[in-house]
This record gives sequence, C-alpha cells and structure tokens, in this order.
Amino acid sequence: MKSRVFFTPIKDADDIEAVNAGLKTLLAKSGLPAVAEPGAKVVVKLHFGEDGTDAFVRPAHVRIVCDALAARGAFPFLSDANTLYRGKRLNCEDHLAVAMDHGFTREAVGVDVFIPDDTRDQNVVDVQIDRQFIKTASICRCYTDADAIMTVTHFKGHGLTGFGGSLKNLGMGCATRRGKLAQHCDVTPSFYEDKCIGCGECEKVCPVNAIHMEDDRSVLDRNKCIGCANCIAACPSGALMVDFKAGDDLQKKMVEYTYAVLKNKKGKAAYLNFALRINKECDCWRYGNQRIAPDVGLFASLDPVAIDKASLDLVNNACGKEIFKEFHPDQNPYLQIEYAEKIGLGTTDYELITV
Ligand code: SF4
Ligand code: SF4
Repeated sequence: MKSRVFFTPIKDADDIEAVNAGLKTLLAKSGLPAVAEPGAKVVVKLHFGEDGTDAFVRPAHVRIVCDALAARGAFPFLSDANTLYRGKRLNCEDHLAVAMDHGFTREAVGVDVFIPDDTRDQNVVDVQIDRQFIKTASICRCYTDADAIMTVTHFKGHGLTGFGGSLKNLGMGCATRRGKLAQHCDVTPSFYEDKCIGCGECEKVCPVNAIHMEDDRSVLDRNKCIGCANCIAACPSGALMVDFKAGDDLQKKMVEYTYAVLKNKKGKAAYLNFALRINKECDCWRYGNQRIAPDVGLFASLDPVAIDKASLDLVNNACGKEIFKEFHPDQNPYLQIEYAEKIGLGTTDYELITV
C-alpha cells in the first residue's frame, strides 16, 4: 500500500510569512498533529544548527509546529542530542547556548529546549533490536520516554550518507555519543599521538580506566574501551577523534538506530522535512557549506521512508539531476531508504498529495 506524503511547494525560504502560511496548510491537511493525544509529552526532534551556520529550520516555523501540537492539548518540547565531533554542541551548556543564539528561546517558540546529558546514566537507555549490525542501541532516554515524536528536519546533503532527512535526524540525531560512535566506526576512538599535549583530561573522564598517562602521553587500551566517547569530548587538542569512516555500513547502522528510536512509537511518530536552503553538507558545518539546490518545499508524512524518498525525488527533479550523487559520488543516497524499507520502517511507494 502506498504511503501518503503531503507536499507544499515553497519558492523562497527567506519569505518567512509564506513558509509559515504553507506550513499551517500542510499541518491542517496532513493531520500530522493528531499523532499527539491530549496530555501527551511530544518531543520535537530537530537540529539547532552548528554555531556559525544559518542552515536550520527557523524558530518561527518550529513555533507553528509546537502550537499545532499544543492546540491538541499535547505538551511539546524541542530536543537534540550532543554531537560526537568537536564543535559548539559537544556538551549541554554550549549546545543550549547555540540553540538560544539561533533564536530557539521559550519566548520565540513557546516551549522549552531539552538537551539530554548522555554522560549521566539516567539520560541513556539501551534498546535491544538484534538487527544485522546493531544488537543494542544506545539512545537518549528523552526520545524513548516521550509519548510521541515529531521530526522537524532540514533536508540537505551529507558527506557520509549522501543526504540527511528524517531517517538520519532520528537514527544519528537521537543516539548518545556512544551510539553515534558505534555508527561511525568500530567503537573505539582514533588517537593522534602528535596532537596529544599530555593534559590527562581523557584519563579523568574514562569510566572504565581504558586510558592512562605514560610519559605525558595518553595510552588507550582498546580491549577495555567501551566506546562511550567521553574522552573525545574532553580532549582539548583533537588528539582523540572519531574515525569518520563512510560507506554502506554506516548508513545501515544509522537506519538500525532509527529502528531503535521508533521501536516503541508505533502510530506515535510523524515527520516533517523542510527542503529549503539545501546545502551540500550537514548543518554541523560552520563554514563554506554551499547551496546546491533551489528551495523546493515542505513535506509531511507518517512514514519516514516515504517522506525521505519523496523529498529526494523532488529535490532531484528541481535540479534536473541526481544532485546529491553529484556532490557526494562515493555515497549512494538511496541506500538508507532502501535498507529502511527492507527492515520494515516504511515504504518507498508513496502517493504525493500537493496542498
Ligand atoms: S571512548 Fe570512553 S571508554 Fe573508550 S577510552 Fe574514551 S572515555 Fe574510555
Ligand atoms: S585529553 Fe587529549 S591532549 Fe589531553 S592527554 Fe588525553 S589525548 Fe592527550
């Protein structure tokens, strides 16, 4: 059976009022807010944009989503998890500051922002899924504990996965840093000895004593390491880093994480993609992230596979070519969608309803 994807064309992302009007129509026609029961705690999962970028969904649009959920008697809040890479969203304090800088204040959006601290056990949950790559997924608890989840996703290119849509917003975006590391590499961090300044911060934060100092240099015992990524966050010099290996396995692991996030959300998840300001790279890039496609529009669906497939198709149509493949020739942008369909997250067979 086809999944329905509602679509509102937008010609100019900078026309905030036109986008707001289109979004209201989209929400009303798609019935998306009905995913939230009265009284439900609804997590609105988004990306606040890395410090220095303007590639994120504007607070004015997010407010409309939150208002629509609140109008049903639900209690929405905004959330994103901390990053694995070294930017301004590596810890809760800095991440929250970036969100506020980008205008996601309570006054502007009408709801609170919650950044889960995945260094505290109570904020982390292990979700058993027993899939091909991931047996147990490490997810921030606020996403599994919420009664319903709604993605507000900035649709764009991505160097490791071809593009980033709702599947990635959930799979990578809801994972703890440990979970992100598990998706990106074979669990342990890479160590660049020449960058180590011998400060010992990594040794202090390692929960399993997998690091000790020797001759003012960090020594990592990979047999003990559990891949929590605490040391990556703590290292001030970039000596401990994620080994960002790309490839097909990463996309599949990411999709298996999406499966984990949605495991207890049957009928309680809804998806919005904003195919506006479509850049070559993820919103984590601070500088030099070039625009590669015209503004296309807004998508809404109850199927995360269908919405990403429809968004990909319409962006490619607007460009007259496989734009993400052109900029990221090593990545197959269809892989994440096809694998998500294979493991039962949705269907690539969609009906596009323009509203
Ligand atoms: S990733 Fe975690 S467990 Fe592994 S060395 Fe770093 S702090 Fe220790
Ligand atoms: S935190 Fe980084 S710089 Fe400091 S000792 Fe550890 S690896 Fe070296």
